[in-house]
Amino acid sequence: MVLNDKNNRFFDVIIVGGGPSGLHTASFLADSGLSVALFEKNSEIGKDVVCSGVISKEAFSRYDLPEEAIVGRLKKADLFSPKGICLKYSHPEEAVVVVDRHIFDKKLAEIAINKGAEIFLDTEISSISVNDEYVKAFIKTKEGKNEVNAKICVIATGINYHLQTSLGLGRPKKIVKGIQVETRLEQIKHLRMYWGNRFSTSFFGWAIPLIDGRTRIGVMTEGDALNSIKNIMSDIGHSQDASSEQIKPKRRGIAFGTIKRSYADRIIVVGEAAGFIKTTTGGGIYYGLLSAEMASEVIKEAFHTGKFHANTLSRYEKLWKGTLGKEIKYGEYFNKLFSKLGDNSLDQLFNAAIQDNLLTHVTNNGKFDWHKDTIVKIIKSPNLRRVLWNRLRDGRIEI
Ligand SMILES: Cc1cc2nc3c(=O)[nH]c(=O)nc-3n(C[C@H](O)[C@H](O)[C@H](O)COP(=O)(O)OP(=O)(O)OC[C@H]3O[C@@H](n4cnc5c(N)ncnc54)[C@H](O)[C@@H]3O)c2cc1C
Repeated sequence: MVLNDKNNRFFDVIIVGGGPSGLHTASFLADSGLSVALFEKNSEIGKDVVCSGVISKEAFSRYDLPEEAIVGRLKKADLFSPKGICLKYSHPEEAVVVVDRHIFDKKLAEIAINKGAEIFLDTEISSISVNDEYVKAFIKTKEGKNEVNAKICVIATGINYHLQTSLGLGRPKKIVKGIQVETRLEQIKHLRMYWGNRFSTSFFGWAIPLIDGRTRIGVMTEGDALNSIKNIMSDIGHSQDASSEQIKPKRRGIAFGTIKRSYADRIIVVGEAAGFIKTTTGGGIYYGLLSAEMASEVIKEAFHTGKFHANTLSRYEKLWKGTLGKEIKYGEYFNKLFSKLGDNSLDQLFNAAIQDNLLTHVTNNGKFDWHKDTIVKIIKSPNLRRVLWNRLRDGRIEI
């Protein structure tokens, strides 16, 4: 759709950002009969997204997600310590799939359009202003500038935070570096995850096999991302250097920690823009979809009562805190503790995990999207706790 279609139009809802969170919100709201306009600054939905695309089957069974986007299925994982101690994980059934984000996001857009949402590409919202009666969004396109009005605005801009910061809602606590390459590597048969200084500072690296023989190699780190990905590639025997022309790693930040406030008068923030990311793994698609559902419920209620002020919309924050709040917080504590461990301590923790039979617990009780209980179990398991306690007592937690 082009800009002129909507000059001076007044929508019920405007959504800024055409990623999974914004598109899913558009579907929910258009489905309930509201007039919805979604604005995406890029010329195509899902194009050049940097993401490994790992999503749980739980997400697929909760929502009508596009099966045709699935390019990988994961049941087994090898988890490597810095020295190469390997924990082998195998889930009794396929709990996780990998999607092609270009196809995935495009299909979500089709679903939203079929439900009645209008999607405007190549259209950036440069600023937003709110008054007692409506919210005004200022539009920038190749053709020029314009404005559009609505009763309420949903910010779903991913790691672009200028709209919400201009409204005083803040930004996630920090942005961690993400980097990824996709390459042909037939020898990788199941998911591999790598911990230790060579592979990541504070987080981990990964190699994800796709059905067609390609592999997504990536890193989430607070250190040197390019060096980390080079180390993983050389460890798994990739013949090309990550900096070579053919490979071209793609980079993108990953939000860590939620924003100060996810609502204001006539405004709601969803998805990664609000910091809804698993603080353990950096996965944000499912939490974004869940936040879209919760936001839509509160927005529909607002239309029902005709009240769009902050105190009405505050229910959204109560809802997501009830579902995601502790998960995100526990992940933050966990990361704080484990990011201080040096390679030796990490190796010892891997050995302790083997002695404590932690993988059996994770296989039987762990859930791909919900990590709070697993974190508690890890921290309470006897050998693991002894390693951590010894490190803390001796002041030998290596920073
Ligand atoms: C290397 C890497 C690997 C990852 N792997 C996984 C994974 O395996 N599984 C997982 O669940 N998550 C993963 N993630 C995270 C995941 O990609 C994000 O959490 C997810 O895309 C967030 O969705 P979103 O809709 O909230 O935001 P986004 O997908 O970022 O969408 C935001 C959209 O808003 C648009 N936009 C921004 N500002 C404006 C504006 N002013 N006007 C108009 N449009 C605007 C952007 O162009 C963008 O299209 C990974 C991230 C990285 C970096």
